[in-house]
Amino acid sequence: MRTPLIAGNWKMNKTLDEAMAFARYLGENPVREGVDTLLCAPAPLLYPLADALTGTGVAVGAQNMHYEAQGAFTGEISAAMINDTGASYVILGHSERRQLFAETDASVNKKTICALKAGITPILCCGESLEEREEGRTADVIKAQVVNGLLGIAEADVTGVVIAYEPIWAIGTGKTASSADANEVCAAIRAIIADLYSQEAADALRILYGGSVNADTIDGLMAETDIDGALVGGASLDPASFHRLTTF
Ligand code: PGA
Repeated sequence: MRTPLIAGNWKMNKTLDEAMAFARYLGENPVREGVDTLLCAPAPLLYPLADALTGTGVAVGAQNMHYEAQGAFTGEISAAMINDTGASYVILGHSERRQLFAETDASVNKKTICALKAGITPILCCGESLEEREEGRTADVIKAQVVNGLLGIAEADVTGVVIAYEPIWAIGTGKTASSADANEVCAAIRAIIADLYSQEAADALRILYGGSVNADTIDGLMAETDIDGALVGGASLDPASFHRLTTF
């Protein structure tokens, strides 16, 4: 009942030419139907990429945004600007944003509310560090990030949020959590949603796994009960590799 979502996160990669070549590949090699497919691109590529992907069924997303509508926020982009490009998703609270750009649960919460109001699907990221995992604090860390990230969001809106579980130690390291370990945390996140809202909301909300997902691991991850998709960095940079991930 939950439509799977395979989301690429290009991070700070790709020129306009490279993005256009990627879009051409997906035009010639259609992605599988019944699976939501998404590419989250750097801001300058959102408009041309969304335009080039028209008719392919592949959606476009941003990787961050500000929660204010406009103003003196040098370097930031707003929800309205993202909407204007034709992008329909935004990644929020990625661990790189939290670690390198001082994002907090509070700012991620404001951004999530703002995205929902603008009709943009937020992908709310959470994940523990290696140290936190080794100290046995994974469950607490995830719970705090999810609960604080969703503060003030009504049950009617929460099913429009996608949550991505991305253990920091698995991002870009080649170390994927085992399918069973990833599923255990995704199931725990679903239980948090059931607690905060209702079982219906928990059953409807999509939870992705991210962290070194590739062609070798996608099938096992997608076979798990509580993993509804993947947020993929490195393996989304090559069009054939990204396409393969949608054929799990
Ligand atoms: P990775 O990145 O697939 O390269 O580990 C995932 C992410 O950071 O979203």
